Amino acid sequence: MKQKIWLSSPHMGGEEFNFVKDAFDTNWIAPLGPHVNGFERDLEAFTGSGHAAALSSGTAALHLGLIMLGVGPGDEVICQSFTFSATANPIVYLGATPVLVDSEPETWNMCPELLEQAIKDRIAKGKKPKAIMPVHLYGMPAKMEQITTIAARYEIPVLEDAAEALGSTINGKKAGTFGAMGVLSFNGNKIITTSGGGALISDEEHFIKQARFLATQARDLAPHYQHSQIGYNYRLSNVSAGIGRGQMQVLPDRIMKRRSIFNFYLKTLSNLPGIGFLPEPFGYSSNRWLTTITIDPNKAKGTTRETVRLLLEEENIESRPLWKPMHLQPVFKNCPSYVNGISEKLFNNGLCLPSGSNLTQESLDRVTETIASIFNKNAAMA
Ligand SMILES: *Cc1c(COP(=O)(O)O)cnc(C)c1O
Repeated sequence: MKQKIWLSSPHMGGEEFNFVKDAFDTNWIAPLGPHVNGFERDLEAFTGSGHAAALSSGTAALHLGLIMLGVGPGDEVICQSFTFSATANPIVYLGATPVLVDSEPETWNMCPELLEQAIKDRIAKGKKPKAIMPVHLYGMPAKMEQITTIAARYEIPVLEDAAEALGSTINGKKAGTFGAMGVLSFNGNKIITTSGGGALISDEEHFIKQARFLATQARDLAPHYQHSQIGYNYRLSNVSAGIGRGQMQVLPDRIMKRRSIFNFYLKTLSNLPGIGFLPEPFGYSSNRWLTTITIDPNKAKGTTRETVRLLLEEENIESRPLWKPMHLQPVFKNCPSYVNGISEKLFNNGLCLPSGSNLTQESLDRVTETIASIFNKNAAMA
């Protein structure tokens, strides 16, 4: 069996272990401590966001963000349909309903025109949405200028899911800093990892203070344990935060490497018939968390997304279809949705390629040679 090539695997920089050792040496083995505070300062400095709360996962950060925007039973929240289920699930945790909005072709994220149509229609039906959740999929920022303008017109707050987009920018401004709050993830497959973790970021200090409060069981100021609100156990551990501090030292390198992997795939594969890449709109910079391709079956002479994926699998290379949109998921099929066919087409024709920053050139060559071989074989038969 050839050596496994993963889609996106953890890539330690070297200093992580020293931070973790320090946590052990000082016995800060708890969901609080100096590394948690230090990691928050690192995240603030990197994103330019005023405040950050380090949490146990990106999903926890989304959950707390929605709570602080007042989302509760019976409410509606507008959510990008083309995403990972973790974006939409916390809406349902709160007894609210996701209203799913499809994508536009330039960033593959929430379509501003459909967003406004959805808002108008929900208001006409008697319910104004409580929040808007755009996602920066695969690192590509959503059209935040248009989305925040529409959100402001209807006075609806924006909670940005930047779980895949740490370090991505629009005109130099970081993903996650356009809305009322932004969410980051440090799960094992993200651009940097704490083995599991997330963060909520905001320029508004009260949101972040409240997030830390709710994340530590909502304990009122009292010597005994007193509670006036329902709390959660959502804080990041000091050990995990130590890994995060080490990872922050190499984050700029990781972004450069992922971007260079994208450029390698673009250069090596874009001449194959029917293959498409997602370019950056003017002023946009993606961290290129995952390189994604689309394969147009009408132009690819018999090659499809699925034949490529299966051949890669035979070669022990992990690849993955693009996210299956939430409006096509059995669990969300009864949610109101505003669709234009774009995310469904991307799901049918799109594939994520191995993009980890620790991939060797030899591994990348194996990926591109495997993909080229199936195109050449099918072209020869056609
Ligand atoms: C990873 C991810 C999340 C969830 O983050 P976790 O830390 O795994 O809970 C949310 N949204 C998107 C788009 C993601 O990719």
